Amino acid sequence: MNAIIIGGGIIGLSTAYYLQQEGWDVTVLERGDGTEGCSFGNMGYLSPSHFAPLAQPGIISQGILWMFKQKSPFYVRPSLSWGLMDWGMKFARACNADHVKRSAKPMAELLLLSRDLTAQWETSGEMKFDYEQKGCINYFQTAKYEKGELDNVRMGRDLGLDIEMLDRAQCQALEPELLPDVRGAAWYKDDAILYPNELMRQLFNYLEKRGVKIIRNAEVVDIHKDKGEISAVRYRKLSEGLTLSEALTTPDLVVLSAGSWSQPLAKLAGEYLPMMPGKGYSMTVDVPHQPLRHPCILLEAKVAISPWAKRLRIGSTMEIGAMNDRILFPRVQGILEAVPRFFPAYTEDPAFRELADFQKLKEKMREKVWFGYRPLSADGVPYIGFAKKTKNLMIATGHAMLGLSFAAGTGKLVAEMAGGKATSIGVGAFDPGRY
Ligand SMILES: Cc1cc2nc3c(=O)[nH]c(=O)nc-3n(C[C@H](O)[C@H](O)[C@H](O)COP(=O)(O)OP(=O)(O)OC[C@H]3O[C@@H](n4cnc5c(N)ncnc54)[C@H](O)[C@@H]3O)c2cc1C
Repeated sequence: MNAIIIGGGIIGLSTAYYLQQEGWDVTVLERGDGTEGCSFGNMGYLSPSHFAPLAQPGIISQGILWMFKQKSPFYVRPSLSWGLMDWGMKFARACNADHVKRSAKPMAELLLLSRDLTAQWETSGEMKFDYEQKGCINYFQTAKYEKGELDNVRMGRDLGLDIEMLDRAQCQALEPELLPDVRGAAWYKDDAILYPNELMRQLFNYLEKRGVKIIRNAEVVDIHKDKGEISAVRYRKLSEGLTLSEALTTPDLVVLSAGSWSQPLAKLAGEYLPMMPGKGYSMTVDVPHQPLRHPCILLEAKVAISPWAKRLRIGSTMEIGAMNDRILFPRVQGILEAVPRFFPAYTEDPAFRELADFQKLKEKMREKVWFGYRPLSADGVPYIGFAKKTKNLMIATGHAMLGLSFAAGTGKLVAEMAGGKATSIGVGAFDPGRY
């Protein structure tokens, strides 16, 4: 049985891992060299704490307020595109308490399954990517955000998560070098962190050693169907300056996992996937000494900070709208300015000062600011499963800001469903045919 995977980001590679393990003959078609998608510069969090889907009550009103602030973490690029309007209407309809309640359990189950499977990749000795289950600390400075966090904590505990509420003194005891200036925090102990750039590199190597064929610089441009099944996947390949058109024929299975580029590819197979890209930025600096001991999220600013032994990464923002490679500098500035508001000691930290030198940063923006497009489904729940109208097509995308957290579990579920096996967890909530 042979499978073609379209897209070599974290979702495509995780799917290749489990399909290959189940005995499939797997080929991955990747448009770039494998480093161009969203899976490299992300924060590296595996976040069972994020069991609530992006579409939730209050997010639209908060988003509208943020739209008018240049340095805010959220922005919708206004457009009359039908895609944005349709996605926006579906998203608005999903922003209700019932949807959150219905989705939280399947989301938590998939997040926990994925975290455990990812941990196994490292504990088994197959790969090494600095995995640590250190939890994630969500800091708040105001009573309003404390209240919102307490709601999340209650739901999380009902789902069986281990969460500790911390007061200001406890927060400062956990970060003695930085003494956060906060009202308190929720410490989600099930969360973990890894270094995503290394995970991606290792996955590519591991899969190729195990016989998975990865064709780089191969852009899928057409999908042929015959009697409701994909009969060929045509791609354009750059080779020694020439563009060649090639095709893989008679696949038993095709998995579409092209992240934010999945919607037009689904259309080639006659499928409709409501999706929008959500652009986010991150900046990484090497640090000779790491004063921050725990991964954390600064809630009011929606900024995440990832501390690895020799590196610090700071990231945030969600710009929804057509893809372009413009970097909105005020938003980058907004991310960095939030850090010393929560950790005043960073104003004295040489590595952070170097990064937050805005004049230098502006001059070298392309070099220093990474951005990626989160593939946003219309209800904040990923699309995983068989396509509606195409028998041998499976969809694995729409993982939004949780693609790394959901990846291993997604791959495992795809392999189980493809083989007609019972799935590790319920999959009804992820059905790509729900629209
Ligand atoms: C700032 C930021 C921080 C984040 N932090 C986290 C985090 O801490 N934890 C977490 O879980 N998630 C995080 N995310 C989200 C996560 O990075 C994404 O959800 C995830 O990378 C999506 O993976 P993917 O494989 O679906 O897409 P991608 O990584 O984008 O991969 C899609 C691949 O498909 C290829 N492709 C596209 N079109 C074609 C074509 N026609 N033919 C062949 N190949 C094609 C692309 O080149 C690309 O390599 C973050 C995102 C951002 C922006």
